[in-house]
Amino acid sequence: MHTPTPALPEFDYIKPASLPEASRFLAEHNGEARPILGGTDTFVRMRDGFWKEKYIVDVKGLDGMDGITFDPAAGLTIGASVNMNRVVASPEVNEHYPVLAEAAHTVASYQLRTRATIVGNICNASPAGDTIGACLVLGGSLQVHGVDGIRQEPLSDFFRGPGQTVLKPGDIATALLLPFPPHGYAAKYIKLGRNAIGDLSIVGVTALGYPDSDTPSGFRFRLALASVAPVPLVPTQAETILAENSITETVIAEAAQSAMDACNPIDDVRGSARYRRLMVRNLTKKAVTEVWEKISE
Ligand SMILES: Cc1cc2nc3c(=O)[nH]c(=O)nc-3n(C[C@H](O)[C@H](O)[C@H](O)COP(=O)(O)OP(=O)(O)OC[C@H]3O[C@@H](n4cnc5c(N)ncnc54)[C@H](O)[C@@H]3O)c2cc1C
Repeated sequence: MHTPTPALPEFDYIKPASLPEASRFLAEHNGEARPILGGTDTFVRMRDGFWKEKYIVDVKGLDGMDGITFDPAAGLTIGASVNMNRVVASPEVNEHYPVLAEAAHTVASYQLRTRATIVGNICNASPAGDTIGACLVLGGSLQVHGVDGIRQEPLSDFFRGPGQTVLKPGDIATALLLPFPPHGYAAKYIKLGRNAIGDLSIVGVTALGYPDSDTPSGFRFRLALASVAPVPLVPTQAETILAENSITETVIAEAAQSAMDACNPIDDVRGSARYRRLMVRNLTKKAVTEVWEKISE
């Protein structure tokens, strides 16, 4: 029997001329309008019948959202419309924030990355978002234009559940902001997928470490885990273990065990909860060890 291919429902395509106009429209049509950048999450969700917006508000052409700028004092600004291939190829990103390029490069395929954006990956708030961990460990925040003006939202307090964020009706994320990274740092993203490209992660582990004379271990680590909880997860107890104990293989194993204990994964088509938990332990150990070897040289 022929199963009909799902198709996009009808919607109105809105191209506002300015950010205030876009925020106003989104706020006035709360519940029936959605902003898009690349649309790679949005159109799939609409095609599959999960989202039924009447208005799709294309914000990617709006002022100030299309560039990558770096300043040693202010750090990096990636405009919301910048696609992932531009991030992967950016000299500034590769020199100062290579883990972000590394993470973006694991997303789907070159073709998809010509549309997909980092800000869209963040605002989609999937626990599996590949670039979110790098943005978290790098201390990122989003610049947001809302009906009441412009503000910043730190990513450490941004995610509320699968697809849920602190953004309010009318809010448009206009840029990702990353501060200048800590001196002497190294970072690593390890993605476990069912195949080499084009799949969401079964588990993703991002680790960043740097020398810090204020901690008993002399180092500080930041960790972020993908696909193992309702939101991108920061295993704070594991980070504390690495800050408070002289770093040895045993301490790294203890931190990896703690990261595993912090997880609350689900069974799905990509992997069982048990497998995910065990992979978090193994990959955290691997990522932290790699980072440790670089920063302790
Ligand atoms: C075939 C395929 C493979 C994929 N593989 C991966 C993968 O390997 N790893 C991965 O992490 N993801 C993957 N994805 C998911 C998707 O491509 C990414 O999440 C992508 O980064 C989304 O960016 P976008 O610009 O296309 O987002 P959009 O679809 O435009 O938006 C995503 C969400 O963010 C909201 N949003 C968009 N712009 C704004 C804004 N300016 N302000 C506030 N909210 C906004 C939208 O309303 C929507 O809820 C895949 C998708 C497909 C179709």
